[in-house]
Amino acid sequence: MPSLRNDERTAYVRALYQLVAERARHRCEYCRAPEAILNLAFEVEHIVPGSRGGADDESNCALSCRSCNLYKSNQLDGQNEITASTFRLFHPRHDRSDDHFRVDTASGRIIGLTSVARATVSALQMNRENQLAARIQWIRIGIYP
Ligand SMILES: [Zn+2]
Repeated sequence: MPSLRNDERTAYVRALYQLVAERARHRCEYCRAPEAILNLAFEVEHIVPGSRGGADDESNCALSCRSCNLYKSNQLDGQNEITASTFRLFHPRHDRSDDHFRVDTASGRIIGLTSVARATVSALQMNRENQLAARIQWIRIGIYP
């Protein structure tokens, strides 16, 4: 981000959120959680963190729920829980969610269809108990997946 005054920075951050959120249709670009159901705006997440050379523009940003952003942190790769092999994480700008993930609507579990997806599910801890409980409620009221 270029050097900005505080009011310019606030306007930039607001415009970036609007662009990223609308592009993502107000869903987490990792777990597909719907933003509208939560009482907090989702976060603009840097896919490649700035600390690891990622750009600070919309090409490197994704809309993320608090949980996915918290667990992703500055990671770029994760481990397959079964093989312990390391794979890059899902990249919302380069990968298509439907090619990598599916949701088991009975359990609410996100199933990784690829090594990248399985590493992402593990690194972002997408199937924690409270995640599953929330997803089951969202499925019941027809807003997920
Ligand atoms: Zn999420």
